[in-house]
Amino acid sequence: MWAFQQLEPFEHFISRQRAKGHSIGFVPTMGALHAGHLSLIRQSNAAHDITVCSIFVNPTQFNDPLDLLKYPRMEAQDLYLLERAHCGVAFLPSEAEVYPQGHGAGPEFMFGTLDQIMEGAFRPGHFLGVAQVVYRFLQMVEPDAIYMGQKDFQQVAIVREMIRQAGLQVRLVMCPTVREENGLAMSSRNVRLPETQRTQAALIYEVLQDIKERAHSANLPHLREEALRRLAEAPGFRPEYVEIVDGRSLQQVNAMEESDFVVACIACWVGEVRLIDNLVIKFSDK
Ligand code: AMP
Repeated sequence: MWAFQQLEPFEHFISRQRAKGHSIGFVPTMGALHAGHLSLIRQSNAAHDITVCSIFVNPTQFNDPLDLLKYPRMEAQDLYLLERAHCGVAFLPSEAEVYPQGHGAGPEFMFGTLDQIMEGAFRPGHFLGVAQVVYRFLQMVEPDAIYMGQKDFQQVAIVREMIRQAGLQVRLVMCPTVREENGLAMSSRNVRLPETQRTQAALIYEVLQDIKERAHSANLPHLREEALRRLAEAPGFRPEYVEIVDGRSLQQVNAMEESDFVVACIACWVGEVRLIDNLVIKFSDK
């Protein structure tokens, strides 16, 4: 595996790959890699000549400075895992390379309601930071396709919209959420959960499954309220939202007939860690 920290040799390498006619798959990450990230690498490897995985803890997408400070960093282990997953290139640029003109110098994107609900409402500025850093990485890597996890469903919607607004040619591939055995969605933040809370955190997935099972026969606003109550009553849990939304517009859905693509989304604190998860509860590809 190749590993680059500096942009210039990285860009040389990429242009050599392009000259050979190689297709490039790109997996952006913030490191502290787990099986979820590695599944994206596998899917990219299956479709491209070479996979680039970036590791960059992007300061502009953290609305909470403490969250940034506590974000797990484990570069040596990450490189080992990437090598074992047959990733072609690890790209670990410095902040100066990513933001040569300082934070916020990229294009202005307007996301309307997409970034005012759910994560957007609870993490102001988060998605503008995400959109700008992904845009910058797409400039540096120039991949044929970008691989992102369904785990961050709203993030995928934002990046899809950013790609559309910027008129980029890259294909966006959304990959399924990889879970722990107990159902908890894998996340870099899970390492900050003590063992007992990691076990208890499976409740989030249980609640999502319960919504899915009952969605066709129950009233959706009622299901949402019940799910919020169930989470709030669990010791150490503090739900921020439970939403049942249209999978494209992310607008609230009040009855299953309103949409052919319905997703239930949860954000919940478990102890000192904020977790998000979601489950598609209806999808008909008509
Ligand atoms: P992060 O390092 O948390 O920014 O995540 C990098 C990419 O990995 C994003 O596209 C995430 O959606 C994806 N990802 C994170 N956790 C999972 C998971 N459990 N399953 C699948 N993809 C994931």
